[in-house]
Amino acid sequence: MSANLRRPLIAGNWKMNLDLRQSVELARALKDGLGQAGAEVAVCVPFTSIAVVGEVLKGSPIRLGAQDLHWEKEGAYTGEVSAGQLLDAGCRYVIIGHSERRRYFHESDEVVRKKLKAALAAGLWPIVCVGETLEERERQQTFNVLKRQVEALAGLAPAELSSLVIAYEPVWAIGTGKTATPEQAQEAHLFIRNAVAGHYGKDFAQALRLLYGGSVKAENIDSLMAQPDLDGALVGGESLKPVSFLRIIHFQAPARSGAR
Ligand code: PEP
Repeated sequence: MSANLRRPLIAGNWKMNLDLRQSVELARALKDGLGQAGAEVAVCVPFTSIAVVGEVLKGSPIRLGAQDLHWEKEGAYTGEVSAGQLLDAGCRYVIIGHSERRRYFHESDEVVRKKLKAALAAGLWPIVCVGETLEERERQQTFNVLKRQVEALAGLAPAELSSLVIAYEPVWAIGTGKTATPEQAQEAHLFIRNAVAGHYGKDFAQALRLLYGGSVKAENIDSLMAQPDLDGALVGGESLKPVSFLRIIHFQAPARSGAR
């Protein structure tokens, strides 16, 4: 599949925000304001909002997602939610290995891999996050970190992985207002695509959607999306603001066509 067949994906990560009323209001505003979007759109909402947002989004192309899952199918794992339960609740996407989970909940590459396998086995579409911290960037470790994080995704059956999306989210750019420059993002994306090609071959890597995440907003989305290896965005803070998120969805960049 050639690069222009990678349909852009704009995914919102609501994180631990919004009560039920606010979730419904935001979902309604997105559904009503979406219009004709070239990009695929998803919202990854708190577990508690999945049902109500799913109800609002009925009949809309906006896809529903979650922000985490547990790798076991069922059992005595108090507080956890399985891939099957997310699918049953109406989720299509699930974020895996967000840097906040890696940092605050000590998720290792091994845990990310287990979650990825569980999501794929259940038929959920995974958005796996990778990215370096500021300290790692300053120590010139960015590519080593990305290589290690991509390696953790290796050795699975390529056919099973067809729904995989990877989000490059430099940790120093998340929620900080500091965005990677389009050139920095492109450099990292190309590195990730090549690293994936090393494990799964060039065709697979060329078809893989790579999102950028880290202080994406209406003001920077167009220049980010002009980069050839950026296939969309994972948006945190600005996904809670309907006007901004809709503008991000309707980014202006060289046309891409087709769908995955
Ligand atoms: C995120 O949480 O995935 C994210 C990119 O956050 P923000 O857009 O707020 O930096």
